[in-house]
Amino acid sequence: MRILLVEDEDRIASFMASGLSAEGHAVERASTAHDAVGMSAAHVYDLILLDLVLPDGGGRDVLRTIRARDTEVPIIIVTALGETDDKVELLDLGADDYLVKPIAFAELAARVRAACRHGQQSSRMLETAELSLDVRTRIATHAGHSADLPSREFSLLEYLMRHPGQVLTRQQILDTVWGFGFESASNIVDVYVGYLRRKLDRHGKPSVIETVRGAGYRVRP
Ligand code: CA
Repeated sequence: MRILLVEDEDRIASFMASGLSAEGHAVERASTAHDAVGMSAAHVYDLILLDLVLPDGGGRDVLRTIRARDTEVPIIIVTALGETDDKVELLDLGADDYLVKPIAFAELAARVRAACRHGQQSSRMLETAELSLDVRTRIATHAGHSADLPSREFSLLEYLMRHPGQVLTRQQILDTVWGFGFESASNIVDVYVGYLRRKLDRHGKPSVIETVRGAGYRVRP
Protein backbone atom coordinates (compact mmCIF):
# COMPACT_ATOMS: atom_id res chain seq x y z
CA MET A 1 0.00 0.00 0.00
CA ARG A 2 1.01 3.57 -0.55
CA ILE A 3 0.86 5.32 2.81
CA LEU A 4 1.09 9.01 3.68
CA LEU A 5 2.62 9.36 7.14
CA VAL A 6 1.94 12.76 8.70
CA GLU A 7 4.19 13.12 11.73
CA ASP A 8 6.41 16.00 12.84
CA GLU A 9 8.64 14.09 15.26
CA ASP A 10 11.55 12.52 13.38
CA ARG A 11 12.13 9.73 15.86
CA ILE A 12 8.52 8.53 15.76
CA ALA A 13 8.24 9.01 12.00
CA SER A 14 11.33 6.92 11.27
CA PHE A 15 10.20 4.20 13.69
CA MET A 16 6.82 3.97 11.95
CA ALA A 17 8.19 4.34 8.42
CA SER A 18 10.87 1.68 8.78
CA GLY A 19 8.40 -0.82 10.26
CA LEU A 20 5.82 -0.19 7.57
CA SER A 21 8.44 -0.33 4.80
CA ALA A 22 9.59 -3.70 6.15
CA GLU A 23 5.99 -4.88 5.77
CA GLY A 24 6.15 -3.97 2.10
CA HIS A 25 4.40 -0.59 2.14
CA ALA A 26 5.58 2.50 0.29
CA VAL A 27 5.70 5.26 2.90
CA GLU A 28 5.86 8.99 2.10
CA ARG A 29 6.18 11.45 4.93
CA ALA A 30 4.79 14.91 5.59
CA SER A 31 5.93 16.75 8.71
CA THR A 32 3.60 19.77 8.58
CA ALA A 33 -0.13 20.32 8.08
CA HIS A 34 0.69 22.32 4.94
CA ASP A 35 2.61 19.44 3.36
CA ALA A 36 -0.02 16.91 4.42
CA VAL A 37 -2.77 18.84 2.63
CA GLY A 38 -0.60 19.42 -0.46
CA MET A 39 0.63 15.84 -0.79
CA SER A 40 -2.81 14.34 -0.24
CA ALA A 41 -4.22 16.61 -2.96
CA ALA A 42 -1.52 15.75 -5.45
CA HIS A 43 -1.42 11.97 -4.98
CA VAL A 44 -3.67 9.03 -4.31
CA TYR A 45 -2.83 7.18 -1.12
CA ASP A 46 -4.26 3.91 0.15
CA LEU A 47 -4.01 5.09 3.72
CA ILE A 48 -3.18 8.24 5.68
CA LEU A 49 -1.69 8.12 9.19
CA LEU A 50 -2.33 11.51 10.73
CA ASP A 51 -0.70 13.00 13.81
CA LEU A 52 -3.09 15.30 15.63
CA VAL A 53 -0.67 18.02 16.79
CA LEU A 54 1.51 19.52 14.06
CA PRO A 55 3.83 22.55 14.21
CA ASP A 56 1.75 24.67 11.82
CA GLY A 57 -1.74 23.59 12.69
CA GLY A 58 -4.09 20.97 13.94
CA GLY A 59 -4.60 17.52 12.51
CA ARG A 60 -8.35 18.13 12.83
CA ASP A 61 -8.21 20.78 10.11
CA VAL A 62 -6.11 18.49 7.92
CA LEU A 63 -8.66 15.73 8.46
CA ARG A 64 -11.55 18.03 7.52
CA THR A 65 -9.76 19.30 4.42
CA ILE A 66 -8.89 15.83 3.14
CA ARG A 67 -12.37 14.46 3.85
CA ALA A 68 -14.00 17.37 2.02
CA ARG A 69 -12.49 16.18 -1.25
CA ASP A 70 -11.86 12.46 -0.65
CA THR A 71 -14.45 10.41 1.16
CA GLU A 72 -12.72 7.10 0.42
CA VAL A 73 -9.13 7.15 1.65
CA PRO A 74 -8.84 5.48 5.07
CA ILE A 75 -7.44 7.87 7.71
CA ILE A 76 -6.03 6.67 11.02
CA ILE A 77 -5.42 9.34 13.66
CA VAL A 78 -2.26 8.91 15.71
CA THR A 79 -2.04 11.01 18.81
CA ALA A 80 -0.20 11.30 22.11
CA LEU A 81 -1.98 10.37 25.29
CA GLY A 82 -3.88 13.35 26.64
CA GLU A 83 -4.00 15.30 23.35
CA THR A 84 -7.63 14.45 23.02
CA ASP A 85 -10.13 12.49 24.98
CA ASP A 86 -12.82 12.86 22.39
CA LYS A 87 -12.49 9.92 20.02
CA VAL A 88 -16.10 10.28 18.97
CA GLU A 89 -15.45 13.77 17.65
CA LEU A 90 -12.59 12.50 15.46
CA LEU A 91 -14.64 9.64 14.10
CA ASP A 92 -17.45 12.11 13.36
CA LEU A 93 -14.97 14.25 11.41
CA GLY A 94 -14.27 11.27 9.18
CA ALA A 95 -11.39 9.38 10.79
CA ASP A 96 -11.63 5.62 10.37
CA ASP A 97 -9.57 4.63 13.36
CA TYR A 98 -7.56 5.96 16.25
CA LEU A 99 -4.21 5.03 17.82
CA VAL A 100 -2.60 6.41 20.98
CA LYS A 101 1.17 6.89 21.35
CA PRO A 102 3.38 5.27 22.43
CA ILE A 103 2.50 2.89 19.63
CA ALA A 104 3.26 -0.80 19.72
CA PHE A 105 4.26 -1.66 16.18
CA ALA A 106 2.21 -4.87 16.15
CA GLU A 107 -0.91 -2.84 16.86
CA LEU A 108 -0.12 -0.30 14.16
CA ALA A 109 0.50 -3.09 11.63
CA ALA A 110 -2.81 -4.74 12.52
CA ARG A 111 -4.75 -1.49 12.10
CA VAL A 112 -3.01 -0.84 8.78
CA ARG A 113 -3.95 -4.33 7.55
CA ALA A 114 -7.56 -3.74 8.56
CA ALA A 115 -7.67 -0.38 6.78
CA CYS A 116 -6.06 -2.02 3.75
CA ARG A 117 -8.79 -4.68 3.50
CA HIS A 118 -11.40 -1.97 3.81
CA GLY A 119 -9.73 0.24 1.21
CA GLN A 120 -9.37 -2.51 -1.38
CA GLN A 121 -13.11 -2.57 -1.84
CA SER A 122 -12.96 0.78 -3.56
CA SER A 123 -11.48 1.38 -6.97
CA ARG A 124 -8.40 3.55 -7.23
CA MET A 125 -8.57 4.38 -10.92
CA LEU A 126 -8.06 7.86 -12.33
CA GLU A 127 -9.84 8.35 -15.64
CA THR A 128 -10.27 10.99 -18.31
CA ALA A 129 -12.04 10.58 -21.64
CA GLU A 130 -8.93 9.19 -23.33
CA LEU A 131 -6.69 7.98 -20.57
CA SER A 132 -6.85 5.81 -17.46
CA LEU A 133 -4.33 5.30 -14.69
CA ASP A 134 -4.42 2.53 -12.12
CA VAL A 135 -2.80 3.99 -9.02
CA ARG A 136 -2.13 0.57 -7.48
CA THR A 137 -0.32 -1.03 -10.41
CA ARG A 138 0.95 2.24 -11.95
CA ILE A 139 -0.31 1.13 -15.35
CA ALA A 140 -1.54 3.83 -17.73
CA THR A 141 -3.83 2.96 -20.62
CA HIS A 142 -4.43 5.10 -23.70
CA ALA A 143 -6.23 4.10 -26.90
CA GLY A 144 -6.13 0.43 -25.94
CA HIS A 145 -2.41 0.49 -25.25
CA SER A 146 -0.97 0.08 -21.74
CA ALA A 147 2.34 1.14 -20.24
CA ASP A 148 3.89 0.36 -16.88
CA LEU A 149 5.24 3.65 -15.49
CA PRO A 150 8.33 4.17 -13.32
CA SER A 151 7.61 6.13 -10.16
CA ARG A 152 8.47 9.69 -11.27
CA GLU A 153 6.58 9.40 -14.55
CA PHE A 154 3.68 7.91 -12.63
CA SER A 155 3.69 10.80 -10.11
CA LEU A 156 3.75 13.36 -12.92
CA LEU A 157 0.86 11.80 -14.81
CA GLU A 158 -1.06 11.25 -11.59
CA TYR A 159 -0.71 14.93 -10.66
CA LEU A 160 -1.96 16.05 -14.08
CA MET A 161 -4.86 13.57 -14.00
CA ARG A 162 -5.91 14.69 -10.53
CA HIS A 163 -6.45 18.14 -12.08
CA PRO A 164 -8.06 17.38 -15.45
CA GLY A 165 -8.45 20.37 -17.73
CA GLN A 166 -6.42 22.58 -15.40
CA VAL A 167 -3.19 24.12 -16.67
CA LEU A 168 -0.36 23.31 -14.26
CA THR A 169 2.78 25.42 -14.45
CA ARG A 170 6.24 23.87 -14.57
CA GLN A 171 6.89 25.31 -11.11
CA GLN A 172 3.75 23.72 -9.66
CA ILE A 173 4.73 20.40 -11.20
CA LEU A 174 8.32 20.70 -9.91
CA ASP A 175 7.17 21.54 -6.38
CA THR A 176 4.70 18.68 -6.25
CA VAL A 177 6.42 15.89 -8.14
CA TRP A 178 10.07 16.64 -7.42
CA GLY A 179 9.73 18.48 -4.13
CA PHE A 180 10.38 22.01 -2.99
CA GLY A 181 13.71 23.61 -3.72
CA PHE A 182 14.26 22.01 -7.10
CA GLU A 183 15.97 24.35 -9.56
CA SER A 184 13.17 26.07 -11.48
CA ALA A 185 15.36 26.71 -14.52
CA SER A 186 15.66 22.98 -14.96
CA ASN A 187 13.93 21.46 -17.97
CA ILE A 188 13.30 18.20 -16.14
CA VAL A 189 9.51 18.61 -16.37
CA ASP A 190 9.69 18.87 -20.16
CA VAL A 191 11.98 15.85 -20.30
CA TYR A 192 9.55 13.72 -18.31
CA VAL A 193 6.54 14.93 -20.28
CA GLY A 194 8.51 13.72 -23.31
CA TYR A 195 8.97 10.27 -21.73
CA LEU A 196 5.25 9.97 -21.09
CA ARG A 197 4.35 11.08 -24.60
CA ARG A 198 6.72 8.55 -26.11
CA LYS A 199 5.08 5.78 -24.13
CA LEU A 200 1.45 6.80 -24.44
CA ASP A 201 0.86 8.90 -27.56
CA ARG A 202 -0.59 7.17 -30.59
CA HIS A 203 -0.07 8.15 -34.19
CA GLY A 204 -2.87 10.35 -35.53
CA LYS A 205 -4.24 11.18 -32.08
CA PRO A 206 -3.60 14.34 -30.05
CA SER A 207 -0.95 13.99 -27.37
CA VAL A 208 -2.13 12.70 -23.97
CA ILE A 209 -0.47 15.76 -22.43
CA GLU A 210 -1.27 19.09 -23.98
CA THR A 211 1.30 21.91 -23.98
CA VAL A 212 -0.25 25.29 -23.17
CA ARG A 213 2.24 27.77 -24.58
CA GLY A 214 3.79 30.07 -22.02
CA ALA A 215 1.78 28.49 -19.22
CA GLY A 216 2.38 24.80 -18.67
CA TYR A 217 0.74 21.45 -19.24
CA ARG A 218 -2.63 19.83 -18.86
CA VAL A 219 -4.57 16.69 -19.66
CA ARG A 220 -7.98 17.00 -21.28
CA PRO A 221 -10.90 16.13 -18.99
CA1 CA B 1 3.03 15.85 16.78
